[in-house]
Amino acid sequence: MTPTTPARPAIAVLGSTNMDLVAYVATAPRRGETVTGHAFRTVPGGKGANQAVAAARSGADVTMLGAVGEDDFGVRLRAALDDAGVRTDGLRTVRGESGTAHIVVDDEGGNAIVVVPGANGSVSALAEGDAARIASAGVLLLQLEIPLPGVLAGARTAHEHGVRVVLTPAPAQPLPGELLAVTDLLVPNEHEAEVLTGKADPYDAASALLSHVPEVVVTLGSRGALYAARDAAPVHVPAPAVEALDTTAAGDTFVGALAVAQGEGRAMPDALRWASAAAALSVQRPGASASMPHRHETDSLAA
Ligand code: ADP
Repeated sequence: MTPTTPARPAIAVLGSTNMDLVAYVATAPRRGETVTGHAFRTVPGGKGANQAVAAARSGADVTMLGAVGEDDFGVRLRAALDDAGVRTDGLRTVRGESGTAHIVVDDEGGNAIVVVPGANGSVSALAEGDAARIASAGVLLLQLEIPLPGVLAGARTAHEHGVRVVLTPAPAQPLPGELLAVTDLLVPNEHEAEVLTGKADPYDAASALLSHVPEVVVTLGSRGALYAARDAAPVHVPAPAVEALDTTAAGDTFVGALAVAQGEGRAMPDALRWASAAAALSVQRPGASASMPHRHETDSLAA
């Protein structure tokens, strides 16, 4: 048999671009407490940009839509996407500060994050050319770090053009029915699934979400992911056992890789295993986009 190279999926991402300001500490401070950290890094991040980089490193042709500020962070954020091979002609530069995320990572690899939207807050509608960029993609990846009207505009445009809509409902918040109505795949983590449904059990939450969207993946951290669709029994895919150093952007790596695997025509359980391998690689390295694996690394772990 002649080996076939899968067609390179075209993926559009409409979402946030943030500079992550990451402090590493033994134990995260409680309210009113000051602790001394042992390292600090600035790392390009933002859920939108993270998913874009994850998808590009996983082998897709990726277009990033959204906005950076006209500050130094904005220049670095655009350059980081360019370096990762993500198209940035649809990424606007707007007045004011770029988005920032203030992240505390503890010695167990857990994290706590404050996001200040900055330029991301200006993305409340599609800009000129965005609709055409979305229409020419196979998948649109969305998250909730830009204003909801912007997310909705992107999702509707994708839906109208038959482009698959994959939504990461983070930060966790109740979602309008009109957004769920044009979402093909919802990918909450356990906490987000509970906020959306009021159900702590991921099987119950996934089942409740299926009355709004046709497919759901609830990510379960080191326990892997749960896939549920209307026409099949739920499937649990365990995560590879690895030592977690920094779980920042594990979910974004997972979603970016999952979109690529599906775009290449892999069926769900197989696509989930490949995405789990990519995410497991990312948690073993520090930072957000800096931690994301390249395709050949994911292939090795998933083999
Ligand atoms: P988020 O990063 O959005 O909070 P999760 O913590 O559920 O989401 O992680 C997303 C995915 O990353 C998981 O489904 C899993 O595949 C992978 N992952 C996260 N933490 C670990 C870990 N400690 N070991 C292996 N894989 C992990």
